Amino acid sequence: MNTVNGGISFWHARQGTPALREPLPGDAPADVCVVGGGYTGLWTAYYLKKAAPYLNITVLEAKFCGYGASGRNGGWLYNGIAGRDRYARLHGHDAAVRLQKAMNDTVAEVIRVTGEERIEADIHRGGVLEVATTPAQLARLRAFHSVELAFDETDRQWLGARETAGRIRVSGAVGGSWTPHGARLHPVKLVQGLAAAVEALGVTIHEWTPVSEIRPKHAVTPYGTVRAPYVLRCTEGFTASLKGRRRLWLPMNSSMIVTEPLAPEVWDELGWAGRETLGDMAHAYMYAQRTADDRIALGGRGVPYRYGSRTDDDGRTQPATVTALRELLVRFFPRLAGTRVEHAWSGVLGVPRDWCATVTLDRSTGLGWAGGYVGSGVATANLAARTLRDLIQRDAGQAGATELTALPWVDHRVRRWEPEPLRWLGVQALYAAYRAADRREAAGRSARTDRLAVLADRIAGR
Ligand SMILES: Cc1cc2nc3c(=O)[nH]c(=O)nc-3n(C[C@H](O)[C@H](O)[C@H](O)COP(=O)(O)OP(=O)(O)OC[C@H]3O[C@@H](n4cnc5c(N)ncnc54)[C@H](O)[C@@H]3O)c2cc1C
Repeated sequence: MNTVNGGISFWHARQGTPALREPLPGDAPADVCVVGGGYTGLWTAYYLKKAAPYLNITVLEAKFCGYGASGRNGGWLYNGIAGRDRYARLHGHDAAVRLQKAMNDTVAEVIRVTGEERIEADIHRGGVLEVATTPAQLARLRAFHSVELAFDETDRQWLGARETAGRIRVSGAVGGSWTPHGARLHPVKLVQGLAAAVEALGVTIHEWTPVSEIRPKHAVTPYGTVRAPYVLRCTEGFTASLKGRRRLWLPMNSSMIVTEPLAPEVWDELGWAGRETLGDMAHAYMYAQRTADDRIALGGRGVPYRYGSRTDDDGRTQPATVTALRELLVRFFPRLAGTRVEHAWSGVLGVPRDWCATVTLDRSTGLGWAGGYVGSGVATANLAARTLRDLIQRDAGQAGATELTALPWVDHRVRRWEPEPLRWLGVQALYAAYRAADRREAAGRSARTDRLAVLADRIAGR
């Protein structure tokens, strides 16, 4: 059987598309209009409606809930947040520690609410294992490990080569760092369950309703305009398609493959009994999970960016990327050389110019947004949603400031990306440099990060 390519994602293909919801029938009023039916939009609608059941909340989704990254991701529910270290430089270490602790709590919060709402999303809290497979990666992993400890992650564990293999037998792994603040999940089961929970609370969701323009108190679609005091943009990697926002968040591509189910004797060789999510310290890093039905789903960068901020065609992935991910899988687990790759797909995530996630409510216009999560949005979207709830309640005079509204990523503004062709050239050069650095580090014995990657980081503004 050939590898299925695209079809949005393996998760969608297995789960099937639920009954579609009606598009917006015409002009309509609302108290809050949420644009985008991914984790950010749906969690925001969920927490707002829970806090204030009388609110008339409308979600407008261009295709169907989970069409974007929320239905295509690697299923790492974990405590990483893009930009934490920059926020520490901007607002001080203690502020960034508060942000980190809020993220740690967010992993538990998602697990709590999915349990309460009976959303069966194959969640298994096995933590996150990051491994190093070269001396340079090992040095970076040690540095990363001590930075995380300094951000109060005292329950993180350092693992030598043997202890790492005791968890997952990754070929050539020389060390690992494990944190309990992570869980594996099935992305589509989560997003579909969330959409159903939100609807059950009384939120209106219109699918197949693309918003062409967001302006204060208006979300404009081909079928009518929703007028609301608060309009929230939750469109992450698709934001560039909105009028006036082309250079805001760069749609960065990420691609995945999934294997056929692996036999128990294969798992005996690989280990992975703890079902940790697995990542590495390469510059073009990989991420993987052991799925509930005993496959390996593994992702990496692929083609990083399409000219003019275009997005992929329903997840279709370049054959060269599928081959590269397959080679990566076999490099990690040589035992899988003959294993069939069943499905390959891609998606986009939003990257701000300074690589910092943010959540904002502009009190003068009622426009709000959250995103720019880079590759860490599964948990972050939940924290963003609870923060948007608090910001709106404060603005509406229903509540005061909270711990969440005081976090350093709130109301952070960032400059735009360069115009084309600079944007395209820059990202291509960046990832060519990261790949070359990974190759050179793998071939050498030096524990120093390759200077191409150091330069690329500096140019990227990371
Ligand atoms: C392949 C891949 C793997 C990833 N793996 C992980 C991971 O393992 N862990 C992790 O933490 N993060 C991961 N991420 C990132 C994470 O999935 C995202 O950050 C998160 O899902 C973002 O959720 P969101 O709701 O903000 O955006 P999305 O899920 O992209 O939702 C945006 C929604 O808005 C809709 N939309 C867009 N434009 C309009 C418009 N004009 N009008 C109306 N609706 C519109 C889209 O159709 C989409 O449904 C991954 C991302 C990708 C692509």
